[in-house]
Amino acid sequence: MSGGIEAFRAEVAAWMAAHLSGRFAVLKDRGHAGDGEAFPELRKEWERELAAGGWTCPGWPIAHGGRGLSVAEQVVFQEEYARAGGPGRLGHIGEGLVGPTLIAYGTEQQKRRFLPGIRSGSEFWAQGYSEPSAGSDLGNIRTRARRDPVTGDWLVTGQKIWTSLAHLSDWIFVLARCEEGSAGPKGLIFLLMPLRQPGIEIHPIRQIGGGAEFNSVFFDSARAEASCVVGAPGEGWTVAMALLGFERGISTLGQQMGFARELELIVAMAKETGAAADPSIRLRIARAWAGLRAMRYMAIRILADSDDPQARLEGLGYKYHWSNWHRDLGRLGMDVLGAVGVSASDDPRVEKLRQLFFFTRADTVYGGTNEIQLNIIAERGLGMPKEPRGQAG
Ligand SMILES: Cc1cc2nc3c(=O)[nH]c(=O)nc-3n(C[C@H](O)[C@H](O)[C@H](O)COP(=O)(O)OP(=O)(O)OC[C@H]3O[C@@H](n4cnc5c(N)ncnc54)[C@H](O)[C@@H]3O)c2cc1C
Repeated sequence: MSGGIEAFRAEVAAWMAAHLSGRFAVLKDRGHAGDGEAFPELRKEWERELAAGGWTCPGWPIAHGGRGLSVAEQVVFQEEYARAGGPGRLGHIGEGLVGPTLIAYGTEQQKRRFLPGIRSGSEFWAQGYSEPSAGSDLGNIRTRARRDPVTGDWLVTGQKIWTSLAHLSDWIFVLARCEEGSAGPKGLIFLLMPLRQPGIEIHPIRQIGGGAEFNSVFFDSARAEASCVVGAPGEGWTVAMALLGFERGISTLGQQMGFARELELIVAMAKETGAAADPSIRLRIARAWAGLRAMRYMAIRILADSDDPQARLEGLGYKYHWSNWHRDLGRLGMDVLGAVGVSASDDPRVEKLRQLFFFTRADTVYGGTNEIQLNIIAERGLGMPKEPRGQAG
């Protein structure tokens, strides 16, 4: 078995070496957090290159056009992709979130319509959950969907915010309120909508690092076809939560390979700048290494046995662990740079560590803030009393 997995590792590594070359060579290590807008058109072509090699959606079942890879093989694929410097995946929302959700909850027609575009790298997706007053409290969604009595389509009006890569995407999945007078998680609908249509405006939001990877998306009677409701109208919350369940998956181990490369860069810079002589920096570097090792064992344990209650409990703490670890790494990078970090520099390594610092501020926000993660650990993991909630809903 281990011979099999090692042969598979060699196959992925060889494919990456052969294909992340030539005109795609500029994509090495690009397009990750804080650099999400790098080479968008070439990265879309890279998605099609991956598709032609059979490397998009490798964990999907064969019946739906995937490779049906085992968990171990998917982990190896992610690790080798990251080790080779594979660029940030523009297809990851489609592949990791929309596809699995449609496979579980979609109609046959929806699967036939949407899975091939995700697999082939020809249709890209954005996530329309958060609103100005519905982030942690997602049940507070106010965007409305009402039925067009003539066509049966859904007409959507409202605003989504922090919508990553909407400006580079073709489709968006939207959680909206379809039952007048409903509150909280009740009365919501999960819709699939083309982003380029009258009634949708996308406005970029500039981030502290200089990029504008996310957006405000405004809807004014924008249309979702009647056939584009996933699950039943009014039951959108169930689908929305199932989708979030797919968010923390196999890609976490690939993500860790990226973290390891960042740590290597920090160690190299610490030697170069002389910061490595500072005992407090040495201590933080050693702690970062130990934290990364702990993260790896945690992830392997969670992935290996998701039915084991102890592994499930550890799973609740995983986001909190990696995001705080990564935020600390961003700070460490800046401290290693010292004055260089705040001076003009055309060294791309300095810019990388600056962007790391800026972007890791967001890690403890998206996908559930620190406070929300701690509530989840306390309530679901440790059985502590639920925090008092307001009267609404
Ligand atoms: C880089 C990035 C990309 C994103 N991409 C997307 C995307 O593509 N699509 C999308 O829909 N959303 C996206 N988001 C939005 C993200 O999901 C929200 O930012 C997140 O859910 C937090 O919501 P909020 O920003 O409204 O903050 P709030 O929920 O308003 O939180 C503000 C503060 O209050 C605290 N707080 C809130 N509730 C509680 C509580 N009950 N107990 C204790 N403290 C509490 C929070 O921890 C936080 O510190 C993205 C965010 C970031 C940073």
